[in-house]
Amino acid sequence: MKRPIIISGPCSAETEEQTIVTCTKLAETQKVNILRAGIWKPRTNPESFEGVGELGLIWLANAKRITGLPVAVEVANAEHVHKALSYGVDYIWIGARTTVNPFYVKEIASVLKGTQVKVLIKNPVNPDLSLWVGAVERIAHTRGIENIWLVHRGFSAHGYSEYRNVPLWHLIFDIRRQLPEMKIICDPSHICGNREKLLKISQIAADLNYDGLMIESHICPEAAWSDAKQQITPYELKTLLDTLKWRDVNNENSIFSYSLSKFRSEIDQIDSDLFELLSRRMKLAEEIGKIKLHSNVAIFQEQRWNSIIERIISRAKRLNLSELFIRAILDAIHSESINRQNEIMNKQLDS
Ligand code: PEP
Ligand code: MN
Repeated sequence: MKRPIIISGPCSAETEEQTIVTCTKLAETQKVNILRAGIWKPRTNPESFEGVGELGLIWLANAKRITGLPVAVEVANAEHVHKALSYGVDYIWIGARTTVNPFYVKEIASVLKGTQVKVLIKNPVNPDLSLWVGAVERIAHTRGIENIWLVHRGFSAHGYSEYRNVPLWHLIFDIRRQLPEMKIICDPSHICGNREKLLKISQIAADLNYDGLMIESHICPEAAWSDAKQQITPYELKTLLDTLKWRDVNNENSIFSYSLSKFRSEIDQIDSDLFELLSRRMKLAEEIGKIKLHSNVAIFQEQRWNSIIERIISRAKRLNLSELFIRAILDAIHSESINRQNEIMNKQLDS
């Protein structure tokens, strides 16, 4: 079975005792490979705890000496990197609020030249993969790609969500296609924002072949000075890790391979049929565009569109498809169809 990389420690180092006791208990689980603690905390709210600063580096150096485990801290500028390196920090991570800022990433990259420290780059707060890839490229430029790992901590969403930061797993497929060699770690703590969903998100990450997890742990989570709702005790972390299943990526068993290939070839056929049909549907939309142009009729006819949605949604149950899914597919089809009609009807505006 796969051996995932487990990074854990408090959201913030608060006191020497809290840091050392938490780290020692984590080491005792024998499941944790890297210890983490935030000492410079980028907080959204200025009233929130902003970290103990350099003092925390002394505590972490002690935790490293006592446990024998490597340590990681978050950095947000060049000075942080200098300080972290001077205390023997092994891994630094660039937080979500820093990945969005090319000036800071550049500044951090410039002091990493020639160092051995490993760099973890969290996804930017907003779902913009080019910012994430840009940060990777800036850091890789000064010290090679081998020492960089990605950390998926979810993305801010407007309005209600069951997550603190929505995972948007499909974006992760995308970035892994773009950076196939890079290790990727999931941070369920910042995705969930609470303890209850940690196991569920961790299991999804395991099933999507992530290389590891970063989970916040605190000796007394309820009393934590930051992110109190999402931290778990080292003991709870051990239970979570014992429950998780890291299934094999592949299985050579011939019955498994046969059943899988049978279903996969059926799926491949259905995908081809689906896109053939979509292509035919778009050609028809273009024909309609020509007729509308000829008769001087606007592209969008609300009634017609509403009746299409209603008709398909009325079959949702029978099709065993959720209304949300049907609406998402229809929206994509509709916007492509409008684009096609627009190209036909407003060609003259294009120059
Ligand atoms: C953290 O890891 O404590 C942290 C601040 O993370 P993020 O940058 O993902 O918000
Ligand atoms: Mn945190």
